[in-house]
Amino acid sequence: MDELESYLNGQWVQGSGAPWQLRNPTTGEVLAECAPGGFDLAAALEYARTEGGPRLRALTFAERGELLARMSQALHAEREALIEVAVKNGGNTRSDAKFDLDGASGTLMAYAELGRRLGARRVLEDGEPVDIGSGSRLQGRHVLVPLRGVAVHIGAFNFPAWGWAEKAACALLAGMPVLTKPAPATALVAYRSLRPVIERAELPRGALSLLSGDVGSLLDHLRHEDVVAFTGGSRTARVVRGHAALLDRGVRVNVEADSLNAAVLVPDAEEATFQALLRDVVRDMTQKAGQKCTAVRRVLVPEADLQRVTEALSERLAEIRVGDPSVEGVRVGPLTTKEQQGRVRAAVEQLLTGARIAWGKLDGFELTSASASEGAFVAPLLLVAEDVSAASAVHRVEAFGPVATLVPYDGSAERAAELVRLGEGSLVTSVYGDDREQVGRLLLELLPHSGRVVVVDAKVADRSPAPSLVLPDLLHGGPGRAGGGEELGGLRGLALYQQRVAVQGNGPLIARYLQV
Ligand code: NAP
Repeated sequence: MDELESYLNGQWVQGSGAPWQLRNPTTGEVLAECAPGGFDLAAALEYARTEGGPRLRALTFAERGELLARMSQALHAEREALIEVAVKNGGNTRSDAKFDLDGASGTLMAYAELGRRLGARRVLEDGEPVDIGSGSRLQGRHVLVPLRGVAVHIGAFNFPAWGWAEKAACALLAGMPVLTKPAPATALVAYRSLRPVIERAELPRGALSLLSGDVGSLLDHLRHEDVVAFTGGSRTARVVRGHAALLDRGVRVNVEADSLNAAVLVPDAEEATFQALLRDVVRDMTQKAGQKCTAVRRVLVPEADLQRVTEALSERLAEIRVGDPSVEGVRVGPLTTKEQQGRVRAAVEQLLTGARIAWGKLDGFELTSASASEGAFVAPLLLVAEDVSAASAVHRVEAFGPVATLVPYDGSAERAAELVRLGEGSLVTSVYGDDREQVGRLLLELLPHSGRVVVVDAKVADRSPAPSLVLPDLLHGGPGRAGGGEELGGLRGLALYQQRVAVQGNGPLIARYLQV
């Protein structure tokens, strides 16, 4: 059995205290243990600040990019072994596991390439210099420099590799050392994916630390120059945001929380567009057993199309096998823990106060090579919301599993936008339609309520990536319930870890001092 270690102060250490038990959610078998406490977190943060910070800041963007490339390669070299771990610890099918692992190595490599393009610089310019007085020498310019603290990354359980990698890619490229704390349920995947990176990527001392354990007093020791990037549920986010030390010291906090993402079918969509909607909804309900923050939860369909959509989705869902994710042909594995299964079942009960089941069963569904009592299974469930009023649970409750709800609407752009807005801010909203006038109006209405909007029409339907796919070049994050955070988006992802500062004076000399 594995015993998880942390990597703090430049060495692998065991914690103390009553251990977490990491289980296989298909069988309940204990796979690993982790003693979660007893660390000197103040010292670990200071080590990262004083050892990792200066070493990273001494590197150019291109050199930091090379570092990210080595991290990506070290991770990719362990891909096969890590898939096995993710199948066991995450309840992932092989395909789900690859999605997480390749997302991690791919994002590291995308930022490696960005570093290469930024070249031999250490300071980034933000916009053009401006003349601020008479004569051309007096100028002001904005520049971006790395903060002098440590980036504390707190991750959710559902993407144990991609989660740490996408955050680390941005922070390290910006020039900030990272201390990452994965979620307990899948901490084995996180640990096993980080260990080869830490050991083989030739990182500068102090650049990357791992806390396999409780958050403990970690946030108490943060200072104004540190950053917290949190991913998880909105309840936990509220606690993190409200943490006294962070508020008192003005520590930057970025929150990526939950989201009731919507897909909208616009009336009179062409067949290819319609099929893309079905494809994307089924993928989101089944991939990672629906445990994706960007998965569609609400599917808005014109009343006239409700029956057709329900039948078409039900037909596809009927072909999906649920069970042991290591068995060929199984598309939906268990949820990550029994607790998570309980939470999703409770969320479905709440959704059912304003909806009915259109397809699927909460209990008594067929399982392939698995036992319902031992595993944390929830089979795909398609609901239809009869109550589409503002009070309906469908606009408030996130069932973080293979569950989506059809929400009928009158087919107008105004009503669709109104319903989307009831989700109070989403990571991603997708629109499927070919009526250009209608799609154009809807798009403008939706923009302020989402971090990303995906528009699918018949011309791009077969090539359009799934709306739930987070791309390194595009922003990830969303307003309101989704946390109000921003990650990725190419260069934009570095901003969280940088100070934007205006510098004014003798323009040409200042450019020389800053080497911009
Ligand atoms: P969670 O229960 O909120 O936990 C997230 C992380 O916060 C864990 O590492 C947890 O570790 C830590 N944590 C808990 N209490 C804390 C505290 N007081 N101070 C600091 N950290 C604390 O979320 P989860 O169950 O792992 O993840 C599922 C949720 O994440 C879903 O709602 C999903 O929508 C959301 N999510 C959002 C995104 C996004 O990008 N927007 C991505 C993935 C998931 P401990 O349990 O050890 O304390």
